[in-house]
Amino acid sequence: MSGSKTASSDLKRWKDKCFAQAEELEQQEKSFQDQVDLLQRLLVRVSLAADGLNEDLDSELSSLRDQLRKGAPSKSELTSRLQKVEAAVLALDEQKSERTGMLLDAIESLVNQLLELELERKQKKQLKQLLKEIKGQKSNLRDYPNLLMQYAHLQEDALKQQFEMMGHENKNGILRRLFGSKHSPSDETDNSRSSLTEQDHPSIETSDATDLDITAGSVEGEYMPGFSAISGHVSAALSNLIKQLTIPPNAEPTAEKIQNTISNGLNWYELGPTIDDVANLVISAVGKGQKEFELFLQNLDVRLAKLQGYLAESKTQQLDWRGSSSDLDRKVRDQVNSISQEVRDANDIDHLKVSVTSHIESIIASMDDFVASEDTRIEEMNKQMEAMQHRLIAMETEAGEIRARLKVERAKALTDVLTGLANREAYEERISMEFERWKRYRQPAAIVVADIDLFKRVNDDYGHLAGDKVIQIIAKELSKRIRKTDFVARYGGEEFVIIMPETTLEAAVPVMEKTREMISRLPFHFRDERVQITMSFGIAPFQDKHSSDELFELADKALYKAKENGRNRVEVAEGETST
Ligand code: GH3
Ligand code: MG
Ligand code: MG
Repeated sequence: MSGSKTASSDLKRWKDKCFAQAEELEQQEKSFQDQVDLLQRLLVRVSLAADGLNEDLDSELSSLRDQLRKGAPSKSELTSRLQKVEAAVLALDEQKSERTGMLLDAIESLVNQLLELELERKQKKQLKQLLKEIKGQKSNLRDYPNLLMQYAHLQEDALKQQFEMMGHENKNGILRRLFGSKHSPSDETDNSRSSLTEQDHPSIETSDATDLDITAGSVEGEYMPGFSAISGHVSAALSNLIKQLTIPPNAEPTAEKIQNTISNGLNWYELGPTIDDVANLVISAVGKGQKEFELFLQNLDVRLAKLQGYLAESKTQQLDWRGSSSDLDRKVRDQVNSISQEVRDANDIDHLKVSVTSHIESIIASMDDFVASEDTRIEEMNKQMEAMQHRLIAMETEAGEIRARLKVERAKALTDVLTGLANREAYEERISMEFERWKRYRQPAAIVVADIDLFKRVNDDYGHLAGDKVIQIIAKELSKRIRKTDFVARYGGEEFVIIMPETTLEAAVPVMEKTREMISRLPFHFRDERVQITMSFGIAPFQDKHSSDELFELADKALYKAKENGRNRVEVAEGETST
């Protein structure tokens, strides 16, 4: 019993110990993983720090970084990578010591060059000290910037001292010899021409040029080849050019300044800027002239457009210029001739401008005068035309009235006063017209002559007034009986004539019979006494062989026959038959 109890307690102890160790292992594993992460980040940073030293190394480190970022590389991957990086680092080491050697040699050579100059003892000592330091520092790359800084300070001091020693006149020479530059320190701070005084840059043309010949001559030989030989010629040419320019007022001070510079004698350094200034002057002078000329041409254009306007207007209006036009023509011709002459003789553009402008103004003034006088003339003409128009309207009205009166008169002249029928005149007109038409169209037509029977007796028995009344009533009845196309006229006394166009004899006879009968039935009364009035008719058809007068005669003969045969009858002309 106690043995099994002990075994059980042992088991529990071992079990607990096992759990504790598993937990510890887990903790260790976690800590290990954290360290691996840390190392990986460290590797990335270090590889970045080494970047840029050598191309092969850069590429290896870049691949390593990529691999690390993706996750922990395997042991074999890391081993192969390490071998490549080692090879690159070895190569870099060799390269580095080679470059270091070259750098030190270069600084050494610079210091030696400075030592060749005439320097103060102190400066020489400092330079030699630096030389020693350089030789002792062969393998320590970190000290090189410090060495270079020291060299720079010593060089500055040495140059300052050289500058002071050589004096101002000679500074170009020494600086050029050192740096190959054509500019002095003052040039570098201020390049404007105004700073280039004779004192700063002694001209080779000045009297003291000879004094400088020994030192500066050799410099000039290098940098100003033969300029003194052509300087006079260049100055004269530039000065001459400026004199020939028409300088605009605002550029005059500049021109004067350039002329002064030139007359003082140009040196090599002033030549470039002076030519620039002259070029600018030329541009401004020419530019101004061009602008003025453009303006002049524009004004001329406006004036010519005005002239053209006048000419176009006169052409479209077809004005009768009469005397004033020939006067204008002469004036314009004179001015145009003058312009041509001026242009031919011109040798000065300003004079030409003034003259051409004045001539054109004269032409325009003449045109203005002409147009003004034309306006007055046209105004007067318009007034006259207006008056004439009024008169014409009045005359037309008058003529209209006369025509109307004449019409009335004519109507009166063709109308019988007693009956209101057409009179004998009207008959004559009508018969000739109808006869002509008949001859053209050959349509049958007839003429009728009618006479009141025994009318003398009416007058005698009941008086003339009663007779007139009878005539009027019969006239009305005749008008009523005939067709619209027929024509009836009172031929004279109690005699009437009827024209029946487009009517055969066969058609005319019954119409007249009917009319005769109607008239005989008219209820005439005189003092309550019935009075019968009859009429006789003679008809003749239109025929080729007879004239209109002869036709009337034929009808009249037929009427006579009707009277002879007892009156109140219709008779047809001799030789004609009627059904
Ligand atoms: P018929 O013709 O039948 O042979 O006999 P008639 O009496 O009509 O004969 P005639 O022609 O000789 O006479 C016509 C008369 O008509 C003569 C004239 O005084 C009269 N007379 C002519 N014109 C007018 C007129 O305008 N008014 C009046 N009242 N009489 C007129
Ligand atoms: Mg009669
Ligand atoms: Mg009669």
